[in-house]
Amino acid sequence: MNKIEHIGIAVNSLESAKAIFQKLLNTPVYKTEIVASEHVTTAFLQAGLNKIELLEASSPDSPITKFIAKRGEGIHHIAFEVNDIVAEMARLKAEGFILLSDEPKPGADNKLVCFVHPKGTNGVLIELCQAIATKV
Ligand code: ZN
Repeated sequence: MNKIEHIGIAVNSLESAKAIFQKLLNTPVYKTEIVASEHVTTAFLQAGLNKIELLEASSPDSPITKFIAKRGEGIHHIAFEVNDIVAEMARLKAEGFILLSDEPKPGADNKLVCFVHPKGTNGVLIELCQAIATKV
C-alpha cells in the first residue's frame, strides 16, 4: 500500500462539520459528493498533502447511521492508496482479512474502493482506494 489517502470522519451534520473543519484547517471544502451506493454524503478538505473526508448519512440504512449510533461521531475509517486494488484485495483475502465487498466499488472522489472489516484490524475500518484513470 502507498500513503494514507484520507481519513474519514463520521458526522451528524455535514453543514456544521464543514464549518468547523474549514475553520480548523483554514481551507475550504473543495468537493461535496453524494455516494449513493454507500448512502452517504461526503465533503473533502485538503490540508497540505492530507485529505479529510467528512461523512454524513443520507439515509437511515447508511453505515454512518449505524456507526454513530454505536460509537458516536468521530474517526470512521483510514483510507490507503493502492496501485492495483484487485491485486491488493486478493492479497488481503489470502492473508485472512475480511473484505466488505468481493469487487471494488465506485467510491467518492473518483476512486475505486473496498473496505476491510474492522473485526480483523484492531477495530479500525480500512478503506483501499485506487484512483480511476480519467480519460483525456
Ligand atoms: Zn473514505
